[in-house]
Amino acid sequence: MTAGPVTPSVGILGGGQLGRMLALSAHSLGVRTACLDPDPAASCGQVTRQVVGGYDDLTAAQRLAELVDRVTFEFESVPAATAAALARERPVFPPVAALAITQDRFREKRLCESLGIPVAAYAVVDRPEDLAGAIERVGLPARLKARRLGYDGRGQARVLEPAEADAAWLAAGGGPALLEREIAFSRELSVLAVRDPAGAIACYPPVENRHEAGLLRLSLAPAPGLGAGLRAEAEALAARLLVALDHVGVLAVECFEVDGRLLVNELAPRVHNSGHWTIEASETSQFENHLRAGLGWPLGGTAMRGAAAMVNCIGQAVDPAAVLGLPGCHLHWYGKAIRPGRKLGHVTVVASSEPELWSRIRAVAALVAVPVEVLSPR
Ligand code: ATP
Ligand code: MG
Repeated sequence: MTAGPVTPSVGILGGGQLGRMLALSAHSLGVRTACLDPDPAASCGQVTRQVVGGYDDLTAAQRLAELVDRVTFEFESVPAATAAALARERPVFPPVAALAITQDRFREKRLCESLGIPVAAYAVVDRPEDLAGAIERVGLPARLKARRLGYDGRGQARVLEPAEADAAWLAAGGGPALLEREIAFSRELSVLAVRDPAGAIACYPPVENRHEAGLLRLSLAPAPGLGAGLRAEAEALAARLLVALDHVGVLAVECFEVDGRLLVNELAPRVHNSGHWTIEASETSQFENHLRAGLGWPLGGTAMRGAAAMVNCIGQAVDPAAVLGLPGCHLHWYGKAIRPGRKLGHVTVVASSEPELWSRIRAVAALVAVPVEVLSPR
């Protein structure tokens, strides 16, 4: 009798819905998972083994490492020191250096600039006294953003007048920040791409993202009306970033479309909310491709089937039967306690044409309270 192949296993730093969807995807490949999260009721911990502990608790991180043979992360605010400590025990993907750069808005912007990738005008603001000079250099309106730990629009404040500087400093958390020129974009796009350890790259079609109150509400895939030129530009800049970061796994690049060109807003070195539709509408989901990359397995195709959308369910329960009764709709519910402004689930909508997609999106939107502005034509 010969021994069978060893079952691979992946530890996930973070136990939110991204980790949960990674774990579910891993299960279908026969890959074991475990996660680390301080919340005993973590979304991911409901579907896989969980070590309950803080992200800076190296003993807890060590316990995770003992359960698995490699480690990834599902959000970029995991302390780089924890990832670095784990990297001494187990391979970590994406690389710790990619995590360290992308968790700091300044380092992220400098990386883009070094590659000739356009970003909004910005200035570093380390102390409140730096703000007046930063406003001079960047111009108004602007956004003050905490350098670290921001998500869903938290840790940032708009500055419309110089007199608002002090209030903005406090609203952005009162710590090291960047002042960034506010961009009058025509729309927001994101591009998700994945790289394997041998350097092979696969890219998903860029998507259009619509936010409300700083939260992603709707992603349209592919981004409607996206010309071949812009698509090629998105893919090329994602590929340049992947190579520069020596990335392994999925990288999400959030962009603004301005006058038919792309400006990079921020990077996420992980699977991303704007790629959830890939579960139903792509040949291979972002979650599976992230795992394939980390395990050194061949990447799967990223071609789409038809048109798709992702509608986030935020802050309130939805009736599963009502959503599932709609044509082309697939519900994902994360098992999180209901709180205002919290991402609780999403619906993927699939259709064979854009008009059909929009009629289906409107039907879902009515059930999950998406504001009409989000649905208006752009
Ligand atoms: P998320 O976690 O949702 O990606 P975040 O907290 O990391 O968000 P950003 O992505 O930088 O922060 O900003 C959130 C949203 O605020 C953007 O998607 C965009 O709608 C708006 N925004 C951010 N920066 C700018 C800017 N410079 N000009 C105009 N709008 C901006
Ligand atoms: Mg963002």
